[in-house]
Amino acid sequence: MREPDPSVTTGGDETGAECPYCGSTNTVREHPKGPSLCRSMHYCNGCEQPFERFE
Ligand SMILES: [Zn+2]
Repeated sequence: MREPDPSVTTGGDETGAECPYCGSTNTVREHPKGPSLCRSMHYCNGCEQPFERFE
């Protein structure tokens, strides 16, 4: 199960990722769940979908 963690919204590089579903940049970055540093988890506030970004 995933659950939001409001304590991680500290500002900074949380925004800017473009949602692949709706194209919105109203997204937040989430903490990675594992050692996969080559990608990051984001969550779109526009369509309420989580998505990954490879870096
Ligand atoms: Zn979206």
